[in-house]
Amino acid sequence: MVLVRYVVCLCFLMHTIFFVFLSVRGYHPVNMIYLISGLTLIGIFVLSFFVPRSDVIVTALAITNFVVCAVAGSYLGWVVSGYGFMYVTLMLIWFDSSKSMGYKVATSAFVSLSVCALFIIRGAQLDIQLEHSDYQIMLVINTVILCGCISIVSYILCRHNVTDERKLMQYNAKLKQMAGIDPLTGLMNRRAIGEKFEELLKGDTQCVTVAMGDIDFFKKVNDTRGHDCGDYVLKTLASLFKDFMKDKGYVSRWGGEEFVFIFKDINGDETYPMLEDLRRKIEAIEFEFFAHRFKITMTFGVEEYSPMFGSEEAIKKADEKLYLGKESGRNRVVY
Ligand code: GH3
Ligand code: MG
Ligand code: MG
Repeated sequence: MVLVRYVVCLCFLMHTIFFVFLSVRGYHPVNMIYLISGLTLIGIFVLSFFVPRSDVIVTALAITNFVVCAVAGSYLGWVVSGYGFMYVTLMLIWFDSSKSMGYKVATSAFVSLSVCALFIIRGAQLDIQLEHSDYQIMLVINTVILCGCISIVSYILCRHNVTDERKLMQYNAKLKQMAGIDPLTGLMNRRAIGEKFEELLKGDTQCVTVAMGDIDFFKKVNDTRGHDCGDYVLKTLASLFKDFMKDKGYVSRWGGEEFVFIFKDINGDETYPMLEDLRRKIEAIEFEFFAHRFKITMTFGVEEYSPMFGSEEAIKKADEKLYLGKESGRNRVVY
């Protein structure tokens, strides 16, 4: 409705300017039609606050313009009579999402037929009784106001679309990000690290090493100290891993109590001592959860990526080495 009021105001502006111009230039009594239409437009503007139906106001606006064109069109020339506003009202109807397609098509047909009927009955452009320079001035006023009106209407309508589109894009980006994050630990999940790995391989990385880590006897933590305590361990380790991998690459929660580490530009020989350090650090942590005080250990399997096999194979091999570590007593790094 606000948009319709803008159009009514611009139409009023044009009709007022026409009235003043025609009066000053001595075109009587045709100037009176713009006085009458200006007053009618004020009435329509006021009406819009009492009848909150944009279609009623748009129809009133279209009828006013149609009458003005019918009365003044052949005298002033159709182009400057202001009938362009009938097309603007048509635009408002087409952008009104509450109107049915049938209604819009019928309105378009009605507007085009009625304007054509006007041309046929009154004779198009034949009967201009304005001086050439006056005609040109009115043509300029008419063009500027109409262009301004169409620009304002389009800007307001597009602004909503652009905002909605931007919001949708932000929402999609957030969804995509959420889809790749493990909600408990905030680390990347299996899918996201897989994509990151592939991305790394496509870049100019010298070498990539994969490690798979698994908490030893984690089930016991849950069974003896409760599931919440188990969650607390996972979150504590996740933040330790995030810190540890900050300048080395990426870490993800692969599943349950398993984590996958991807070391960028670090080979297997270099990764091994780093993970040994991490393993010792974990071993030394005194976990405290309410009345519980305990320690845990982790086992790691390390595999350097080789282009002969794929990324999935590298992870699989790291997992196999992790299994060997579990078999041979846990709390170790197997390379
Ligand atoms: P192993 O040393 O052989 O790895 O023994 P484990 O007990 O760590 O391994 P197992 O696979 O038997 O048990 C893993 C446990 O991890 C079982 C499951 O309850 C627990 N777990 C998986 N996801 C979560 C989670 O999100 N929160 C908590 N608290 N526990 C989880
Ligand atoms: Mg385990
Ligand atoms: Mg496991």
